[in-house]
Amino acid sequence: MKAAVWHARRDVRVEDVPEPPSPPAGQVKVEVAWCGVCGTDLHEYLGGPLYIPTDAPHPLTGAQAPVILGHEMAGKVVEVGPGVTRVKVGDRVALCPIIGCLECQWCKSGLMGLCPSIAFLGISWHGGAFSQYVNVYDYMCYQLPPEVSYEVGALVEPFAATFRAVKQAAVKPGETVAIVGAGPIGLMALQSARIAGAGQVIAFEPATRRQELARQCGATAVIDPVNQDPVAAIGELTDGAGADVVVECAGIEATGILAGRVARRKGRVVVMGVFEQPAPLDYTDLVYGEKTVMGSMGGYGVFDEAIQMMAEGKFNGEPLITGRIGLDDILTGGFDALIKHKEENVKILVSPN
Ligand SMILES: [Zn+2]
Ligand SMILES: [Zn+2]
Repeated sequence: MKAAVWHARRDVRVEDVPEPPSPPAGQVKVEVAWCGVCGTDLHEYLGGPLYIPTDAPHPLTGAQAPVILGHEMAGKVVEVGPGVTRVKVGDRVALCPIIGCLECQWCKSGLMGLCPSIAFLGISWHGGAFSQYVNVYDYMCYQLPPEVSYEVGALVEPFAATFRAVKQAAVKPGETVAIVGAGPIGLMALQSARIAGAGQVIAFEPATRRQELARQCGATAVIDPVNQDPVAAIGELTDGAGADVVVECAGIEATGILAGRVARRKGRVVVMGVFEQPAPLDYTDLVYGEKTVMGSMGGYGVFDEAIQMMAEGKFNGEPLITGRIGLDDILTGGFDALIKHKEENVKILVSPN
């Protein structure tokens, strides 16, 4: 079968690899319908290895480069291994890419995303979703109802991550939520904030195309943080107070600082952006404003709820899917398109068939 395989930084090849064998106990074989290109894939391509094991096998899974990329996927179960009861052949599923040890306190308490031995589909696993088939543990599969297409199903993972972040910040109906950065995660976080009942949802985004997309995704106001004074601008919309909750979705020094500044006194900042290095915060402002900063990683634990929101039509995938390509085109039409034309592209979906 064909697969996009990460060999080294700037060396990803679409090549023939053996199809996964019949799934062992506890695993299922899934035929990939669509898989989204994620920022993590681009980081691994341009600046990796970040999470891909290269020098030694991954301690939990034994996976090691070269690895097949791809972790935001939906597809059909085509074979089940011994002992699997959670899904059956023919089921349409979205996958949670997190693999845990199932034995530590975090895995046992329903917080597998915090497992110290954590591994990920498409990064530190024996397979990824930029391929025709992948074997995964049955616990990674979440049923898609008929109302949710495979294309939207491929958005479940990033959407669930934003849904969980908004939940962690405990957004209450009527509260003002600010989203910093209207890329794929920011646009989904906007929708998660609307679903949580936020009153105003204010996006901070300098790129014109992404400002438009933010409005389509439900932003009640958009602020250009480069050409406007962001604190004054949000002050005008909130009687000088700032946002009750800020979701940081960009992961650079300037946006981290901005997120703290536009939060109101007693406000909560939830950080989703992946910072490449430690970045400063205005601690005095945190102290005097009694603000809370928290992190949120992945969507483990809220997949079923996120899928339910999609089935009820509360999630709009249309503005987010800006490209659909075949696996052969992944380097040019996927990675390069997202790297060189960042503003026009949000989520590019890849089909191996
Ligand atoms: Zn991802
Ligand atoms: Zn664990």
